Amino acid sequence: MANVLVFAETRGGDLRKVALEAVTAARTLADRDGGEVHALMLGAPGIASKAEQLGRHGADVVLVVEHPGLGNHSAEVAAATAAARAKEGGYAAVVFSASAQGKDLAPRVAAKLGVPMAADVLSFEKTGSGVSAQHPGYASKVVQTLTLTATPAIVSVRPGAYAPAANPKAGRIESLAPAMDPASARVVVKEMVQGRSGRPDLGEAPVVVSGGRGLRAAENFKLVEELAEAFGNAAVGCTRAVADDGWRPQSDQIGQTGRTVSPQLYVAVGISGAIQHLAGMRTAKTIVAINRDKEAPIFKVADYGIVGDALEVVPALTAAVRDAKKGH
Ligand SMILES: Cc1cc2nc3c(=O)[nH]c(=O)nc-3n(C[C@H](O)[C@H](O)[C@H](O)COP(=O)(O)OP(=O)(O)OC[C@H]3O[C@@H](n4cnc5c(N)ncnc54)[C@H](O)[C@@H]3O)c2cc1C
Repeated sequence: MANVLVFAETRGGDLRKVALEAVTAARTLADRDGGEVHALMLGAPGIASKAEQLGRHGADVVLVVEHPGLGNHSAEVAAATAAARAKEGGYAAVVFSASAQGKDLAPRVAAKLGVPMAADVLSFEKTGSGVSAQHPGYASKVVQTLTLTATPAIVSVRPGAYAPAANPKAGRIESLAPAMDPASARVVVKEMVQGRSGRPDLGEAPVVVSGGRGLRAAENFKLVEELAEAFGNAAVGCTRAVADDGWRPQSDQIGQTGRTVSPQLYVAVGISGAIQHLAGMRTAKTIVAINRDKEAPIFKVADYGIVGDALEVVPALTAAVRDAKKGH
């Protein structure tokens, strides 16, 4: 029987959506051999109350590490604890999200265990000799198939690649001690300050409305904000050109040197579609592009394209979304 360990991310006393995605992904792997999914969750005392959600999404066992020093993410403690558990449990694979936290953690765990990893994969499956994973390469121009033959196979899954699926399992809680004292970590997160309130995180939002230089001026970004507001569940992104010009914070930048997103819907407003931008969004389920140049490369990846002036099209789209919402 090949069990799978999954790292379930928490933040501010809550489970993150990527935790449920990772459990869903791990479930597909464990089911191949009738194995179990064990979800590892760290947090301040009280975090155990979130275990039930992991059980509902396919965790047979939830390994809960509660400690007053774990209110904020500690990469050193999390990596030491995940590696110790992975070694002890004899898992076939250890699954992380390729979120900022997961990108920090997964390589540390792979290094501690001396095993290879596949980062930022779109899907993966168990094969006779190990785990085979689909990894986007060359700024998402190709998809490479990677085979991991060492055990455990360490995999980080691109946020949004797996939709959280209900799959009720026992979710039996087991308490675990952290593998090291959080107070002895060399880097301690003292405080987390939320950048902007009211908007979902770029990596987790089902809808991303993103703007580029075609918006002509920083103040026109309010049109993008309003469209995001109309959707209700949308985050706002931008291109590097716009971030470099100081129209938007760098944290909103999507692409090769920015964030990677895989939302259900990506609306690209006044974005040319440079390869470096596509690297961060081309795995979105549906792409809508608004550009006044019908030859713009973004239309090559778009499912729906509107050729027109963004300053006219976006307000009309916002009104249409508001109307459609009213009808529900
Ligand atoms: C090493 C490296 C890394 C990079 N990393 C990134 C990255 O992570 N993310 C990223 O985005 N870029 C990245 N870039 C930059 C990238 O190459 C492009 O320069 C950038 O994405 C272009 O941004 P843009 O589409 O906003 O601007 P532009 O390329 O200037 O495109 C503007 C678009 O708006 C359209 N337009 C103009 N006016 C209107 C209007 N009124 N209505 C509608 N459409 C209009 C134009 O037709 C055009 O297609 C990187 C570049 C390098 C070299």
